[in-house]
Amino acid sequence: MKHSIPIFWRNRDSHYRIKITKCNTCGKLAYFGRDRCPYCGSRNVTIIESKGKGTLVNFTISYYRREGDEEHLPRIVGLIKLDEGIVIPGEIVDIDLGEVKEGLRVEAVLRRYSSDDPYGLIYYGLKFIPALKK
Ligand SMILES: [Zn+2]
Repeated sequence: MKHSIPIFWRNRDSHYRIKITKCNTCGKLAYFGRDRCPYCGSRNVTIIESKGKGTLVNFTISYYRREGDEEHLPRIVGLIKLDEGIVIPGEIVDIDLGEVKEGLRVEAVLRRYSSDDPYGLIYYGLKFIPALKK
């Protein structure tokens, strides 16, 4: 996938952190940080940063070929319920297809997204791996 470098730079915060908007008026959570609650319109919000841990609630296997990232196929695209209580989409890596299941504990890590070409820029972002057991 070709990225616009200025846009990637401008949005860098959302590529490396999971920010959640918590509304202090209606109490709802919304994915990504914003200055207004998308449910009730209140500006009385608090931006919280997720610790990046959660549970896989659903997933699908994608064979969609993304330019610059052809070697990572098929791709596991999941819905992760973060421990903070909100469900967000995310790619699951470092796991065999047969081991992916609902209820899997996962955690966010920084991984390579794609590159422009073999000698071009490499873009990084958050993906999820099976949580390390403690
Ligand atoms: Zn609200």
